[in-house]
Amino acid sequence: TEAPACTQVDTVADHAPVLPVTGHDTLAPLVDGRRVPYANLDVAASAPALQAVADRVAATLPLYASVHRGAGYLSQVSTALYEQARRTIGDFVGAREDDVTIVVRNTTDALNLLAGCVPAATDGTPGRVLVLDVEHHANFLPWQREADATVVTGRDTAAATVQALRDELAAGAAAGRGYALLSVTGASNVTGEALDVAALVAAAHDHGARLLLDGAQLVPHRRFSLEATGVDYVAFSGHKTYAPFGGGALVGRRDWLDTGTPYLAGGGAVRRVRTDATEWHDAPARHEAGSPNVLGAVSLAAACQALAEVDPDELREHEDALRRRLVAGLGAIDGVDVVHLWPDAADTVGVVTFTVAGCDAGLVAAYLSAEHGIGVRDGRFCAHPLLARLGLDGGAVRASVGVGTAGEEVERLVAAVAALVADGP
Ligand code: PLP
Repeated sequence: TEAPACTQVDTVADHAPVLPVTGHDTLAPLVDGRRVPYANLDVAASAPALQAVADRVAATLPLYASVHRGAGYLSQVSTALYEQARRTIGDFVGAREDDVTIVVRNTTDALNLLAGCVPAATDGTPGRVLVLDVEHHANFLPWQREADATVVTGRDTAAATVQALRDELAAGAAAGRGYALLSVTGASNVTGEALDVAALVAAAHDHGARLLLDGAQLVPHRRFSLEATGVDYVAFSGHKTYAPFGGGALVGRRDWLDTGTPYLAGGGAVRRVRTDATEWHDAPARHEAGSPNVLGAVSLAAACQALAEVDPDELREHEDALRRRLVAGLGAIDGVDVVHLWPDAADTVGVVTFTVAGCDAGLVAAYLSAEHGIGVRDGRFCAHPLLARLGLDGGAVRASVGVGTAGEEVERLVAAVAALVADGP
């Protein structure tokens, strides 16, 4: 039996500043002689900017100048805007008093930065980092390159997966080769599913490790707090948090960031430079060489502020109703399989990946776009190890929703996939 259609979507629509800027009408294809609006169901890749963000960017455009580098009025204004944005971004993820917020380009940047800050083991070998095979490449390759990374294969349940991580952390500590860091996704970019954060914090801290959450898919959709959870670091991307490209953040414990390898070498990251010696700043300046990205920071802060003003339960319910409808609607179609990792996931954000028997994922996505004006993602989602383990090396199709997604868009996707299965492309 079919699940009821979404009914929640109008509640969030009451909050005009958190609705995305639209303007997709020119992309609308003709369907049965009728022009249908473009449905962007690829929010997990990049989320459309909110109206509040667009307004803030427009207001800041006439003001921006160099940050931390001038006595002129516009430089002072820009510096103040940049530092205020840093505080807003940190506050949004519940930064503790001593935490540092580093403005970066995106999650990939944040994780590469932290990879240069993981302390070496006492014998001088690179610090050990533990990850899962479900991770996005951004939370895998930096550790593989810069640290001593160990990969644990995800298990069939969330509880068993956390236990496997706990066992490996314990084994490392018992062997005198303890892990410095456990780095885990806050929500899978393939299935939206999440592990229990409190259990991850406990597993890491019980064995002398710190915990980083890859917040790329979590922070835009759930109210997350470093302070409330005890997580040590969080990384996330502006362009997935309803701000335009260019801004992102790494927020967390100061000590590693004050002593780690400066992420980029250049102006602004140094206290004093001589031809034979350089004295680096502490964080955050240490890792922000080059002219700071004031618009990236301001737009991300505007998105954080707008999201912070919406009731988190309302946001969650809005997106969850859409996700449930997708899972039920797609799952009811013959030959369509929805991908799940953990039946006991602690939470699931609005990401739904599926396959259509006998249909190449790229073909499904192209059909949805060309015939129905629906944008989805296809491929292996920068998660090759996971897709290989799931037997999905050929790729799959991913639909994802966010604050501006309407129930009607989700209904269109379900109907379009049903039509594809019934009639062929
Ligand atoms: N981590 C996860 C879970 C993601 O979904 C993504 C992007 O899809 C990333 C990291 C990388 O984000 P970015 O491309 O913004 O650096």
